[in-house]
Amino acid sequence: MLTQSFDAVVIGAGSVGLPTALFLADAGVSTLVVDQFAGPGQGSNKAAIGGVRATHSTPAKIRLCLESIRIFSTWEQVHGDSLEWAQGGYAFVAYREQDERSLKDLLKIQHSYGLNIRWLDRQELLDLAPGLNPSGLRGGTYSPEDGSASPLLSACAFHAQAARRGVQFRFGERVTGIIRRRGKVVGVRTDKGGYATGTVVNAGGAWARSVAQTAGLDVPVIPDSHEAGITEPVTPFLVPMVVDIRPTDGSRNYYFYQHRPGGVVFCITPDPPIVGTDRRETSAYLPMIARRMVGLIPRLANVKVRRTWRGLYPMTPDGSPIIGWAPEPEGYLNAVGMCGQGYMLGPGIGSLISRMVQRKTTAEDGQILQELRADRDFGGVEALK
Ligand SMILES: Cc1cc2nc3c(=O)[nH]c(=O)nc-3n(C[C@H](O)[C@H](O)[C@H](O)COP(=O)(O)OP(=O)(O)OC[C@H]3O[C@@H](n4cnc5c(N)ncnc54)[C@H](O)[C@@H]3O)c2cc1C
Repeated sequence: MLTQSFDAVVIGAGSVGLPTALFLADAGVSTLVVDQFAGPGQGSNKAAIGGVRATHSTPAKIRLCLESIRIFSTWEQVHGDSLEWAQGGYAFVAYREQDERSLKDLLKIQHSYGLNIRWLDRQELLDLAPGLNPSGLRGGTYSPEDGSASPLLSACAFHAQAARRGVQFRFGERVTGIIRRRGKVVGVRTDKGGYATGTVVNAGGAWARSVAQTAGLDVPVIPDSHEAGITEPVTPFLVPMVVDIRPTDGSRNYYFYQHRPGGVVFCITPDPPIVGTDRRETSAYLPMIARRMVGLIPRLANVKVRRTWRGLYPMTPDGSPIIGWAPEPEGYLNAVGMCGQGYMLGPGIGSLISRMVQRKTTAEDGQILQELRADRDFGGVEALK
C-alpha cells in the first residue's frame, strides 16, 4: 500500500541526494528521501576526503563544480554553520617530463574554459608548498580557487537544512522497486512499505545499478574500492591539495591536503582497480601510501596516522557522471556514476536536478545534460578522472 504521496522521491541520502533534496524543497517540491543506511551520508559520502575542484578537462564537470564551489564557499555566510570550507587550491606536481607535458597540455583546455589555473615553476611551487621534495621537481599546475570542505559536516548541514524546509527522510529503509503504470512512474516500493510519486531520482551511488534495475533499466555504474586516511592534527604547514600523478607498483595517482582542523587527509587510486563493494580497510594500504607521501614531503615522516577507511567510487566507463531522464518510464531520473568526484559535484548536480524536476532548465543546463546523457559514446576517458 502506498501510504503517503510526494512530488518527488530521492533514492539515496548521499553526496548527490542530500543537496538535491534541499534544492527541490527550496523550489517548493514536496520531497521524500529514502536511504538504506541509518543516517545521512553513510554511503560513499563519508569516505570522501573533501577535495573540491573545478579544474577538470570536460565542460560539464567544470560548470557543475563551479556551481558547487559557489555553494560550498558561501554556505557559512548564507546558513550560519561551517563546512570547514578552505580555498587552498590544487597543485598537480610534475617530477617527470611526461607529466609536465600532459599537465601543460591540459592547461590549454582548462584556459579555454576560463579556469584560473597556471603553471608554477619549481621555485614558485616550493614557495607554495615548502615541504615538497625539491629533488627532480620540475614545477606543477596551481588552481587557487579550488579547495576543500568536510563531507561529514556537509551531509549533516544539507540534511538539517532540507529537513527544516519540510523534506521527509526515511533512514534504514531500502528501495526494492519503482512502480510504473502505463509507462509512467507512480511510486516506489521499499522493504517497509511504499510511497506514491510521479518523480523518482536515482541518487544511489555505488548501488545505483541495482536501483535502476528495480525500474527494469540498466545503467553502467560499477563500484570499486578506494582507501583513505587521516593523521593527527598538526600546526598548519600545507596550503593546497597536492596531487602526484606518477604511477608506481599497485597504485596510480594519490592526493592529500591538510584540512582546517590540522589533520592531513590522504587517498590513493589503486592499480589495478579493486572492483566490488568491499568497504573493509586493508593492512596493505597504509604502508603503500605512507612511502609515497614521505617521499614527496619528507617531514610527513614525523606525523602519526590516526585512522584509515575504505569506501566506494561509483565508476562509469569514461569517468563522468550519467544525468538525465530515462525515455521510459516517464518520471525516472538518473543522477548516478559520480566516480571519484561526487562530493565536489553534488551541490552543482543537486541544483541542476531541481531545475530539471521543475522543467526550468537553462541553455547551459542543456549542454551539460547533452554531455552527460546515458546514451553517449563511453569510448573517451576524462583526463583527470
Ligand atoms: C576514499 C575516497 C575518497 C574520495 N575523495 C573524494 C574527494 O576528495 N572529492 C570528491 O568529490 N569525491 C571523493 N570521493 C568520491 C565520492 O565519495 C563519491 O563520488 C560520492 O560520495 C558519490 O555520491 P553519491 O551521492 O552518488 O553516492 P553516496 O554518497 O554513496 O550516496 C548514495 C546513497 O544511496 C543509498 N542507496 C543506494 N541504494 C539504495 C536503495 N536501494 N534504497 C535506499 N538507499 C539506497 C546508499 O545507502 C547511499 O547512502 C571519494 C571516495 C572515496 C571512496
